[in-house]
Amino acid sequence: MKTYGLFINNEWVKSSREEEENVINPANEETIAKVQKGGVEDARAAIDAAREAFDKGEWPRLSPASRAEAILKLSRFLEEDIIKFGETELANTGKPVKQVVDYDVAYTIDNLRFFAGAARIIDGVAAKEYVTEGTSILRREPVGVVGAITPWNYPLMMVAWRAIPAIAAGNTVVVKPATYTPLSTLELANAVKEAGIPKGVFNVVTGPGSTVGEEIATNPKVDMVAFTGSNEVGRRISSIASGTVKRLSLELGGKAPFIVFNDADIDAATEGAVVGSFVNNGQDCSAATRIYVQESVYEKFRKMYIEKIKKIKVGDPTKRDTDLGPLISSEQLKRVRGYVEVGKNEGEVLYDGGEQEFKSGFFIRPVLIGTEDNKARIVQEEIFGPVSVILKFKGYEEVIEKANDVIYGLGSSVWTKDVRTAMMAARDLRFGTVWINDHVPIPSEMPWSPMKGSGFGASTSRYSLEEFTTLKHVYVDLTGAARKSWYYQVYGEK
Ligand code: NAP
Ligand code: MG
Repeated sequence: MKTYGLFINNEWVKSSREEEENVINPANEETIAKVQKGGVEDARAAIDAAREAFDKGEWPRLSPASRAEAILKLSRFLEEDIIKFGETELANTGKPVKQVVDYDVAYTIDNLRFFAGAARIIDGVAAKEYVTEGTSILRREPVGVVGAITPWNYPLMMVAWRAIPAIAAGNTVVVKPATYTPLSTLELANAVKEAGIPKGVFNVVTGPGSTVGEEIATNPKVDMVAFTGSNEVGRRISSIASGTVKRLSLELGGKAPFIVFNDADIDAATEGAVVGSFVNNGQDCSAATRIYVQESVYEKFRKMYIEKIKKIKVGDPTKRDTDLGPLISSEQLKRVRGYVEVGKNEGEVLYDGGEQEFKSGFFIRPVLIGTEDNKARIVQEEIFGPVSVILKFKGYEEVIEKANDVIYGLGSSVWTKDVRTAMMAARDLRFGTVWINDHVPIPSEMPWSPMKGSGFGASTSRYSLEEFTTLKHVYVDLTGAARKSWYYQVYGEK
């Protein structure tokens, strides 16, 4: 069995207390690897390495083209080893093979290529005499040392989103992957070394959020925290990080509305609803878990949706025809089952795939619950499992109000053939993404940008590189005069 170290200064090292932790496969509960259980001292060592590499190393001072080339090399390693990365992610997350290889890793490669290219178009727009006596220039500078704290639902993709735009822009990073899913991040670290990225630029410390994560969020040598995860931890990080005034980028939970108007193509909308609600087994911050259907097409939609949900194949993730694997953990399974129980009181279970027949692993089949109460917990709270909730609505104003009435603001979708309805909804929905007649696509070029309680700061797109840069104004005097025309305001005469 493979044992991984911590990755600090491009070296694999043991945690200072030499504690290890088992990593398990959620599809069969077997131990697949051992990783270091890092602590505060290890986080500090990695932060020091990143600080040194930023303050004195070559990386922030390299040309954008050189940084881009290193990141392209990284993408090539992933491409050459796509099957290995896919297998690592599959074994650690239980995601089906068609998803990890064709989507998770393939899309991460595309993200990396995009970030490499985008590194070369970072610019500052200025160079002008805004006062006649001097020229102003804008420089876009890296923020410094970035702590990237990532979740377990898309481990490889999330480290790509949080750490790679950061290093592309010239920062150095300390990554803390989720305890359940550190393996693909550690494999990426291997590739970082091979791609020739200098020591201290990309460091990985595995270990608990409560120690390693909190050290990253509070250490004065860290300039910024890029966090993707739950609202609860996001709030905790913003509060503890304030002590040392850090820049934050928070990508938190979601509860996406999926709105079907009566003129929509119901076949297309039900296809989209199955994919949208059960993507990544519902463990997805963009998952369409609130399906609002207009009265006159509700019955037709409900029947067709259930027929399609019945066809989802839950099972062995290594099989090519499996649609959904297990959930990530027994804790998550318990949480999702708990919400199904809550749903029985708050509404009516319209479909329940039943208990699975697996002897081990954290499996659950899809569930559909109907309710009329927009304030129900199953409508308001992020369940993060294959539980979809369907609600009926009468008119436009009503559905927009209900759709917006959650703390979250990440993804949303609208299903209609009417351009005016679609464009009005795109304006009125307070979500960072509005899909029209689809749900889920996020091209690397477009920002995944939260609103409201889902956080702030863009992932993906050129705007994610802006997140990891800060503006510097350089002012150059053009007069050469000892006494500039305005000095009298401070002393002497005009
Ligand atoms: P989580 O429990 O918030 O954990 C996320 C990360 O934070 C993990 O690495 C965790 O470490 C660490 N952490 C925990 N407590 C911490 C603390 N006190 N200080 C610093 N770090 C701490 O989230 P999760 O359960 O892994 O992931 C699911 C959540 O992520 C969902 O809410 C989902 O919506 C959200 N998500 C959002 C997006 C987006 O783009 N907005 C994308 C993906 C996921 P441990 O693993 O050691 O606890
Ligand atoms: Mg957690």
